[in-house]
Amino acid sequence: MKRSFVLKAAEELMDEEFAAKWRDRQRIGRLPRIVLGTVLTELLSTGQPVTLDTVVAALRHHARADVEQAVWTLDEKDMIVVRDDRIVLAYPFTAAPSAFTLLLPDGRIRYAVCAVDALGVAAMLGQPVKIRSVCYHCQERLELAVQPDGPRGGHDVMVWVGERAALRARACTSLCLTINFFRSEEHLAAWHGANPEVPGAAATVLEATALGAAIFGKLLRDLVASSSAWSAITQVGGPAPGAEHGFNLTEEDP
Ligand SMILES: [Zn+2]
Repeated sequence: MKRSFVLKAAEELMDEEFAAKWRDRQRIGRLPRIVLGTVLTELLSTGQPVTLDTVVAALRHHARADVEQAVWTLDEKDMIVVRDDRIVLAYPFTAAPSAFTLLLPDGRIRYAVCAVDALGVAAMLGQPVKIRSVCYHCQERLELAVQPDGPRGGHDVMVWVGERAALRARACTSLCLTINFFRSEEHLAAWHGANPEVPGAAATVLEATALGAAIFGKLLRDLVASSSAWSAITQVGGPAPGAEHGFNLTEEDP
């Protein structure tokens, strides 16, 4: 039977617009990179929204005004979301409970912004992660075990990857609606049949994990590599797991 939707590989999902956005992000200065690493470290450590005061205190060798400016730069680049002087989201993590629960090896529970973000966390941390979510079609629970080099089992699972325009939407609610898990291609097809107007493409869990690993295990990890806070909690050795996917956008790296 002919598919009513497009199935894409990770490389196809990383189109020119995607590459341009990440080249732009790689031009943020050194302090925004350090601030981002600090924010991610705090969000991962506590699971709570990160206050500006916390970031300023963690980076006390920098002037408060400079740190605040860096926070706003990250917000403008859509890498974090600030509400009432609190950072409530720093991709791939969100402080508020979402439909994408992450179980870390030490028992901590954290939340990811969307399905691709959840799939990229193992590569980002260099640790195995269990993802608990639901099929977006039938709401049946699904659990996925992901290692830094890819998922273990669950190979029938599919992901709907919303269009880049929708991906850039600032509100978490729209993001969470556009990048979701489905227990099988049949369930994705049934959902898409009822929602043919939703822009985007389907990906197998393998390709969606490769996409997540390329974004969070390579691009974002490279971006925050200069943050000592982040390096300290992710010292796992070896190359970033996304490296072998060949998504190299660094030709314009400053
Ligand atoms: Zn289902």
